[in-house]
Amino acid sequence: MVALKPFLETSVEYLKGVGPARAEALAAELQIFTFGDLLTHFPFRYVDRSKMYLISDIRDENTYVQIRAKVIKTRTVGAPRSGRLVVTVEDESGQIDLVWFQGVKWMADKIAKGQEWIIFGKPQLFNGQWNIPHPEIEHPETEPLPITRIIQPIYSSTEKLKSKGLDYKGIGKLVKTLLLHEKFHISENLTHDILERVRLIGRQEAFLNIHFPQSPELLNRAQARLKFEELFFIQLRLLKQRGLRLQRSDGHVFTTVGDYLNDFYHKHLTFELTNAQKKVIREIRADMGSGKQMNRLLQGDVGSGKTMVAVMCMLIALDNKYQSCMMAPTEILANQHFSNISAMLAGLDVKVRLLTGSTKPAERREIQELLSEGKLSILIGTHALIEDNVQFRNLGLVIIDEQHRFGVAQRAALWEKNQRTPHVLVMTATPIPRTLAMTLYGDLDASVIDELPPGRKPIITKHVYDRDHYKVYNFLKERIREGSQVYIVYPLIDESEKLDLKNLEEGFLTVAREFPSPEFKAGTVHGRMKQQQKDAEMKRFIGQETQILVSTTVIEVGVDVPSASVMVIENANRFGLSQLHQLRGRVGRGSSQSYCILMSPEELGNDARTRISTMLRTSDGFEIAETDLRLRGPGDLQGTQQSGILNLRIADIVLDEKILKFAKNIASDILNDDPGLRLEKNANLAKHLLHMDEHQQNWGLIS
Ligand code: ADP
Ligand code: MG
Repeated sequence: MVALKPFLETSVEYLKGVGPARAEALAAELQIFTFGDLLTHFPFRYVDRSKMYLISDIRDENTYVQIRAKVIKTRTVGAPRSGRLVVTVEDESGQIDLVWFQGVKWMADKIAKGQEWIIFGKPQLFNGQWNIPHPEIEHPETEPLPITRIIQPIYSSTEKLKSKGLDYKGIGKLVKTLLLHEKFHISENLTHDILERVRLIGRQEAFLNIHFPQSPELLNRAQARLKFEELFFIQLRLLKQRGLRLQRSDGHVFTTVGDYLNDFYHKHLTFELTNAQKKVIREIRADMGSGKQMNRLLQGDVGSGKTMVAVMCMLIALDNKYQSCMMAPTEILANQHFSNISAMLAGLDVKVRLLTGSTKPAERREIQELLSEGKLSILIGTHALIEDNVQFRNLGLVIIDEQHRFGVAQRAALWEKNQRTPHVLVMTATPIPRTLAMTLYGDLDASVIDELPPGRKPIITKHVYDRDHYKVYNFLKERIREGSQVYIVYPLIDESEKLDLKNLEEGFLTVAREFPSPEFKAGTVHGRMKQQQKDAEMKRFIGQETQILVSTTVIEVGVDVPSASVMVIENANRFGLSQLHQLRGRVGRGSSQSYCILMSPEELGNDARTRISTMLRTSDGFEIAETDLRLRGPGDLQGTQQSGILNLRIADIVLDEKILKFAKNIASDILNDDPGLRLEKNANLAKHLLHMDEHQQNWGLIS
């Protein structure tokens, strides 16, 4: 028991068959540093080796086959060093050549040692003849290892590792060496109760069978066990965190509904709140009055009125004599929030200021002074807000807009600004599919604004092929003549940034040609521009000096230009669904009919077709997010990369949704019974959580 942890943390270099060079390659290529890392480098695929093929049955290039055959003829072809080894083998149905281009001498010696072999490999067709390059060969009478290999694990590898003899087989050998190591032992991290209730196999058995399944049935059970374990501990940790937060009673208590909110609500609000907004404000008020610290996620589609909710929450804080701050991911957005919120609060005696990277030192000092004296009630800004020298007098509420751009460390820095953690409201316009939300934000309470303010005209979405560009240009001219503004967006994808920039530049030239000044004016914004340039161009567009904004996706998040009513997305096939949805949300904010035009070539892949047809069919952000998750998997979804929580080893939150929900229920039952995991029967669980903490896995937690 005691030796266990050090054993799995042993550097992989010390495993028999590794050594310094391979260890370095394993670390660099697959982030395998320790025995434990190797153990969790699970096969990504399995090949059924219980089946023997006849040579005459071979007719497919892409599947592994296993044959049992006798050596007929062995010869080396070509020069001794650069030549190849060709071995003709035969079974009752026919003959086939096995070919080796490397390790020729070694393999020739090995072949010479036996007559009959079990041969395993991927056949290929060469000059009309089947052969099997570099097959794996084994004596039929080889004593099966303690772990039988009826099902062959296939491990991911890389070219560099292959050059060091670590192809999937090589890696499999290392794993086997590890599993057969005399000190190898895996201790159970679940409880008896769970194992029985969920009918899971033990942890050690699961690890053995995930690598070298003794039967398809055991492979299934090993997968089920390890997936459950992975999802269960995420849930247990999140829910425990949440439980502890709710147990503490050191939240700022906002009980007063005072003049600020009343005044605003009755005298300054020019429209009725939607029912969804009212519901959410009730939820937030209940939290903030409860004596517990609020940690709430507010989801609502673009334009659903989250900012309005945020303002009212800040007024509640103010009524209770607390300061609030609001952070936006970019300077443009911070500016926009500042001007919107200032306008909303114009009739009230509330001091609102803006603090960003461009705030001049003198103004910065002034803001700082007002803040620490408690004379400034609402501070809006970018992450400049959380720089060390910004000190609030009594920060009671923090609102984070478009949360996914903020890193965990940045949020943590903010909480440390006060002795008591302020209430936290995280707003996101990227709808998060349920399973993802459960996994990413399991410790947060969630509110959803699922209704748009009335009177919005639904955006008309059209798909147009590139050959009809001229029609789109004509349409845009009409709209612009009516006083509308237009976005034209080009994809910008990292791998081919140069090419994309070229597209954008060509696009801009085309636009300049199609839309001649002085009647039309166009501007351009892209990621390679300096922030100041970008801001200047955006300002020109917001101020209606330009009517066309040709850009990359930098305009994606949050920018609000109500008179912009057409969004043209070039190469829409190259955008992810959530991105398309976000972009479409940039229009439809004013009173005139808005349009989203998806341009694409005629030839489209299946996924691109699904994305475009989803956009045409629905504007429901949650439906779109679910489809996106299904198409792309969680790793690629916006904002999930930084979270670390989704570096799942084996579970898949889309495919394993049932396991996830089940794991959550079990975790919640256990915590209801034993919130601190202090009971002896839960010792394994507490120990494993501690282990997770020690390994500093990044769980994207807030607070
Ligand atoms: P979000 O932050 O969710 O994108 P905003 O709060 O910026 O949405 O609201 C979008 C627009 O709708 C703003 O111009 C805002 O003034 C307006 N708005 C918000 N709530 C309502 C409402 N209940 N009725 C009418 N208009 C509203
Ligand atoms: Mg917004």
